[in-house]
Amino acid sequence: MDENITELISDLRTYLEYLKGMGITSLPVAENVPEKAPRSETLTLADVRTELGDCKRCKLHRTRKTIVFGEGNEKATLMFIGEGPGYDEDMQGRPFVGRAGQLLTKIIESINLSREEVYIANIIKCRPPQNRNPEPDEIESCNPFLMKQIRVIQPKIICALGTFSAQTLLKTDTKITALRGKLYDLEGIKVIPTYHPAFLLRNPERKREVWEDMKKIAELLNNA
Ligand code: SF4
Repeated sequence: MDENITELISDLRTYLEYLKGMGITSLPVAENVPEKAPRSETLTLADVRTELGDCKRCKLHRTRKTIVFGEGNEKATLMFIGEGPGYDEDMQGRPFVGRAGQLLTKIIESINLSREEVYIANIIKCRPPQNRNPEPDEIESCNPFLMKQIRVIQPKIICALGTFSAQTLLKTDTKITALRGKLYDLEGIKVIPTYHPAFLLRNPERKREVWEDMKKIAELLNNA
């Protein structure tokens, strides 16, 4: 191998090990996003829902009322992924319908889109008791279905809402404050993490950062 290339690879490896030591396990994508994973031409969201069935793959099935599969446009260019259903979502079987959901609707409309034009889902599809955080085994059981939904929809951009969504999709434990507003890659799809609307209800002073992230998403969609 050319000496310069060997040296370059060695330098790159040293730099990546340095970043890993700093706790950075994924890198933002500025440009040259890799080619998209092939859209699943044969699978539909209905197929994925059928496969999920009356799911009992994790312990959350014992306490849920309804499976919240996700809803929206099967050909959406923008997909929002939150953490998991809360009380209202569990009762209605729809994602983001409570107060946080109303705020998400406003966030979507802020870039001149409607809920019907995007797709909205969560990392887990059943409500954890008392809205506790999802546990790793629950995320692991549910994640394959979310990944299938993503592969069917093949959005141009995924907006990861909040810590669990961003950390699960990007396979990192970096905090949302460090992840938000940056561009990442998931199977060739751009991922932008931002704060969860429920967090914004408790911390309205952080709304400005979300509007900035949404502006970035709108620009990316316009240039796609
Ligand atoms: S959270 Fe997901 S894996 Fe667990 S029971 Fe519900 S649908 Fe199945």
